[in-house]
Amino acid sequence: MIDRSWSSDDILSQLGRVAIITGASSGLGEETARVLAHKDAHVVMAVRDTVKGEKVAAVIRGEKKNASISVMALDLCSLKSIEDFSNKFLNEYQRLDLLINNAGIMMCPRSTSADGFEIQIGTNHFGHFALTGRLIERLKSTEDSRVVPVSSIAHKGGKLNFDDIHWGKRNYNTIKAYCDSKLANLYFSYELARKLADTVTTPRIVAAHPGVCRTELTRHSKVVELMGKFMAQEQAVGALSLLRAATDPLASNGDYYGPSGLFEMGGAPVKVDSTQRSKDESVGRRLWELSEELTGIKY
Ligand code: NDP
Repeated sequence: MIDRSWSSDDILSQLGRVAIITGASSGLGEETARVLAHKDAHVVMAVRDTVKGEKVAAVIRGEKKNASISVMALDLCSLKSIEDFSNKFLNEYQRLDLLINNAGIMMCPRSTSADGFEIQIGTNHFGHFALTGRLIERLKSTEDSRVVPVSSIAHKGGKLNFDDIHWGKRNYNTIKAYCDSKLANLYFSYELARKLADTVTTPRIVAAHPGVCRTELTRHSKVVELMGKFMAQEQAVGALSLLRAATDPLASNGDYYGPSGLFEMGGAPVKVDSTQRSKDESVGRRLWELSEELTGIKY
């Protein structure tokens, strides 16, 4: 029987644990930071706009006295920024219990990252690939650690074109580029889970998607923003999928969590399935090799 009752009340104390949440300056990342701070984790908010991040941190500190939060600069569009963030983190922290790869952009106009990557797959996938690689040894040395890649229902519309991963040859389709990036999040999740399964017991790789939620993600599309006003759930409910993937003691390496409601658009989080395409091991391996080549981070 599917348990549809999971809530943040089910999260055990996170005292003594260190969590990095990318994109914690708004939306689901902000909510995930809030809940983990309330559960006594030390939260590192990895944000591209530290002024915005500090404002969110101040609000959370106002809600919970002695909340343990630091705000650190991270721009996933820049391999140099990822390197700087990682070096600073590794110097300051001896453990990493949770890496929640939440930051993302959707349906933005065509542009490229500082390293020449198409902006959506560059931010949503390649940036997180490099970040995870730079932090993997600290995750391995922390007992019972986890990585939570954040995908989407949109992965169902994705199909990677390895001949033109950065959309230099085709007319840019911003919806398709977003779907591809969210499919890449799942290839990454399953491939890393497979790689680690043979050698180590930690970290566990547990992906999540939040259904459809009212956040700033729709900032580039007025139509989707309007639809969201009627169809989307609150960010606090959407973040539960990420939180369950990060904290449920019963979650296994390679699992995927999402909402339990109709079409997985809303509701309490449960274990869900992804498309057959997302589980294609040969494509997962190919994307991994390309990611290593493009980011220069091998693991
Ligand atoms: P928001 O736009 O509210 O939050 C996205 C966060 O990512 C922001 O904090 C943003 O920073 C940050 N970000 C964007 N680009 C970068 C970058 N280059 N470097 C570092 N941080 C960056 O959207 P959501 O909270 O909705 O999105 C969170 C995740 O959930 C995304 O991965 C998204 O794909 C996924 N998702 C969301 C759904 C929804 O319905 N909302 C549905 C399915 C998946 P800033 O505050 O500076 O803009």
